[in-house]
Amino acid sequence: KDQKPIEPLLITPDAPVLGGVHGGRAKCLQRLVRLGLPVPPTVALDFAAVRGIASGAYVDGGALLEAFAPDALVSVRPSSEDPDWGGPGTILNIGMNDARHAALAARLGRGAADALYRRFIQSYTAHVARLDPDLHSGAGDIREMLAAFEAEMDEPFPQSPGRQLAEVLRAMAQAWEGTSARLLRQAKGAPPDAGLGLVVQAMALGVGDPAGGESGAGVIQFVSSSTGEPRVTGRYLGQSQGREALGAGGRALYLTRDPRGPSLEDLCPDLFDSLQDHGLLCRRRLREEMQIEFVIHHGALWILDAVRVRRSSRAAVRIAVDLATDGVIPQFEAVLRIEPRALNDLLHRQVDPDAVLDRFGNGIAASPGAATGRIVFSARAAQASAAREEPCILVRRETKPEDVRGMHVSAGVLTERGGVTSHAAMIARGLGLPAVVGASKLHLDHKAGTLTTEDGRVLGEGDVITIDGSSGSLITGAAPLLEPVLDDAFRSLLGWADALRDIGVRANADTPAEAVMARRFEAEGIGLCRTEHMFFEEDRLTVMREMIFAERPEDRAAALERLLPVQRADYSELFRIMDGYPVCIRLLDPPLHEFLPADRAGMLDLARALGLPLSQVADRIAALSELNPMLGMRGVRLGIAVPEIYAMQARAIFEAAVQGESAAVPEVMIPLVSARREVELVKAQIDGVAAAVRSETGRAFDYRLGVMVETPRAALRAGDIAESAMFLSFGTNDLTQMTYGLSRDDAGHFMNAYVSRGVFDEDPFLKLDMEGVGELLSIGAARGRAVRPDIILSVCGEHGGDPDSIAFCRNAGFSYVSCSPFRVPLARLAAAHLAI
Ligand code: PEP
Ligand code: MG
Repeated sequence: KDQKPIEPLLITPDAPVLGGVHGGRAKCLQRLVRLGLPVPPTVALDFAAVRGIASGAYVDGGALLEAFAPDALVSVRPSSEDPDWGGPGTILNIGMNDARHAALAARLGRGAADALYRRFIQSYTAHVARLDPDLHSGAGDIREMLAAFEAEMDEPFPQSPGRQLAEVLRAMAQAWEGTSARLLRQAKGAPPDAGLGLVVQAMALGVGDPAGGESGAGVIQFVSSSTGEPRVTGRYLGQSQGREALGAGGRALYLTRDPRGPSLEDLCPDLFDSLQDHGLLCRRRLREEMQIEFVIHHGALWILDAVRVRRSSRAAVRIAVDLATDGVIPQFEAVLRIEPRALNDLLHRQVDPDAVLDRFGNGIAASPGAATGRIVFSARAAQASAAREEPCILVRRETKPEDVRGMHVSAGVLTERGGVTSHAAMIARGLGLPAVVGASKLHLDHKAGTLTTEDGRVLGEGDVITIDGSSGSLITGAAPLLEPVLDDAFRSLLGWADALRDIGVRANADTPAEAVMARRFEAEGIGLCRTEHMFFEEDRLTVMREMIFAERPEDRAAALERLLPVQRADYSELFRIMDGYPVCIRLLDPPLHEFLPADRAGMLDLARALGLPLSQVADRIAALSELNPMLGMRGVRLGIAVPEIYAMQARAIFEAAVQGESAAVPEVMIPLVSARREVELVKAQIDGVAAAVRSETGRAFDYRLGVMVETPRAALRAGDIAESAMFLSFGTNDLTQMTYGLSRDDAGHFMNAYVSRGVFDEDPFLKLDMEGVGELLSIGAARGRAVRPDIILSVCGEHGGDPDSIAFCRNAGFSYVSCSPFRVPLARLAAAHLAI
């Protein structure tokens, strides 16, 4: 066969610096060697070699072992490009056989020799021969284990170290190629052709002759994995090897001095000091917080490996910020080290501990965060739900690789079976998705589409539930959720991001609560306040309905007179909260009938409230109803047809502005414009209101009038519009709807089919369609600028919080993006990444 020979590389301080083809672990080990740390002899195999081995290439294990001392035992560790992608587990003590067992028993004692051989037989059985790991359960005797292996395999346990090594390498190489391993790593972002390197290392034995000095194994790190705060954590176990305890009689020690018991620091102070020095050296030179795996053999310290400290997103932020604060890395690098999406984890919600909850069961808390959504029972249904932008909880008996796509788009996952290492749990943690698994008291009936609780309640597809992946609680309905606490490191990081980025980030906020959130996330203002949301409260709704029902101008004026102080108070509250930051208020947008009742009972209530006959109410509602309301009398069309509404809103805005302390210039935005004349008419009216308020109050104030570009015509005629508009804000939700002729509300019926059949790469309501809608943005921007060079451009549709869409806006020279408050930190960080 024309195979390339396998070319192992012995890692020495002066070997060529390893490139990408040996994987991250090999590369890191080489750096440790170059730093002069006491690493046992190590050999690296590259991706190509491992791929060859997986597909059957011959491996000369004996030749590979020639790099090591004649009687060395070796370990094999996986070395993928990114350690987070996982890989097959490490196998230790390769080379153990009857002869070495006898020799080691004489040298180190029977207990230590047994421990080494026992462990190797166990791993070989489970991971190389792929026999049931229970084969050896209970059996501690080496002879019994060897006999059980032989009985099962029909051949003796391999005695040749070369063959053992070859078989281990093959098993690990093949495990990497398995379907579920591939899906798992792809879910964590690995490309389909991600390679695996393998590292063969001489064993430093953590077991030894007690008379020969301290022996044991441990891991140590210098920061907390959950918070990132400086803290020595890890574990050390005397007479053990690997990351777990081996054999009985091991002594677990505290690492640092501890009143509760003996510590490694007490027992071997010099060694502990060296470990700390190594840790500091790694931090400084590898520019990263590392977890160090070490072995002590007869009093000598060996460093086997160092990996990036595993970390929660919160810890990642703290670690990056501390490294930058200590001058180990520059600030911009700290900013770059945090994936914008990771901030979502930091922002994870929690179920309010004080809330009265209706729990319907519980399971294992498998992935943190709380999520509310409608029950779906299949990945397909989850995708359909996502296309409708409806959060869902994927409920499965257990998850399989084919569910991963559905998990990607769910708000949370609930399974009846499985534990913390189940497929569902691992994938969910990888994706940062709240998950509760192993809720075994629930009964899921797939055929019937029901989930029956222990106390006999039956939940079905579409029912809203809340899962708490931090406690395992399952709750009916939408539980009150608490927003997470944001610490100083988070604030510092985003502060640095702010200094680096060159596009503004505002928030879409309609209510005082949302404005408070916007400020908390340090949005630089409100980019869109949808005022219709102010009219849906019960007391206002009635007045609004009176206004809509008014037959005569004076009746309408009277109703608007009552709405005026309410609106003034709303705006003044927003101005107060935003404390000088700009607030962009959009005049009423939706069709009037959205404020009216749709059913008979509601009409009857309204008839009573207004003192009108039911028939008259029904007739009026019928007259206002539209076949195609999203293209009907809404937005500026309403403003022109019923001008008193915008006049009232403008007056409320200006009166609130002159009342308050804030120096901000209010911004007034006209929705759904398609023609120059619309803007001219509304502008003339609002200028008139401003003049009136100025003269009535004797206070001078400025305001900015702008236009939402939401129709293709507005984008094309942006030049005309810019004559009267100081800013253009692209409403990419409506603009996407109208560019495609695709209903925002109905696209869910076929979006799934469209995306899965590749008609659209992505749902254009989630990811800005750069080619079509994007071109309209570019045209609008250029034509607007040509007429008014200092025109302010922005995006306030849902796309404002999406990193790719932010990149588009930045390239087009927009001033800011505006997105929902929760996406503001992500947008700030993503914008900084673009500018670095
Ligand atoms: C838009 O259309 O993009 C927009 C921001 O307005 P709304 O979503 O309120 O229609
Ligand atoms: Mg819109």
